Amino acid sequence: MSEAEHPDEAISIILVGTSHPGNIGSAARAMRTMGLTKLCLVAPERFPHREASAMAAGADDVLEQARVFDTLQDAVADCRWVMGCTARRRSVVMDEFDPSAAASRIWEATARGRVALVFGRERTGLTNEELQLCHASVHIPSVEDFSSLNLAAAVQVLAWELRRAQLACTSAPDTPMMVDDLPATAAQMESLFGHLAQMLEDIDFHKGRSPDRVMRRLRQLLLRAQPDQREVRVLRGIFADAQRMARLAGR
Ligand code: SAH
Repeated sequence: MSEAEHPDEAISIILVGTSHPGNIGSAARAMRTMGLTKLCLVAPERFPHREASAMAAGADDVLEQARVFDTLQDAVADCRWVMGCTARRRSVVMDEFDPSAAASRIWEATARGRVALVFGRERTGLTNEELQLCHASVHIPSVEDFSSLNLAAAVQVLAWELRRAQLACTSAPDTPMMVDDLPATAAQMESLFGHLAQMLEDIDFHKGRSPDRVMRRLRQLLLRAQPDQREVRVLRGIFADAQRMARLAGR
């Protein structure tokens, strides 16, 4: 463990744009029963709210400590591994895990820093832009023609899988890693993507075409590679050199 005292404190459950406060309370209860306490809320429609407290049924500590953010990008800024839960298959191409595989992957990632498990809005789930902040997605294999669980029920399934994986885990904790060996945080990856986008423009890579598609692919490629901080510095050095050459060439 490098950044949090207990592995379970390294895991944040993030609820994006929740409209029913009761679901926030039920999610807090679902988390608390499985030993998870770090709840983040991105732009909740109503919070704090008496329905949230009523449905938390005693898990008030989770609600009281919940952190509220304006955007998902802010909420995951210090995380080194982010997974998004989706009820439907999406056009965003990314690795998909079932709950049990996701839980193992999440525990593994806690050895390298903070991890986030992200849940979407009751009606519309996560946007494609929000999914693009994730390294991978998690799908609970529900039936095809009725695939969407209630938000708090989905939190319960994942919280249980995390608990189950924790109870089954007998291996010794990993030794702490040096900061440079840690995977880049979401905030560092976002600045890398910003730099990459600017560099591609400076070298006129797109030649008039829209950069969106290629940027989506490059984001996925780099997120999948999970570069550490030293590797991110090397890439940024290369981008800076390419920009310098483009300037010299008078672009
Ligand atoms: N109609 C929305 C469903 C939202 S349900 C949609 O189609 O996306 C609210 C949230 O619960 C989802 O965003 C997701 O995070 C989680 N969820 C619900 N069912 C799920 C499933 N089968 N697998 C993974 N996550 C699920």
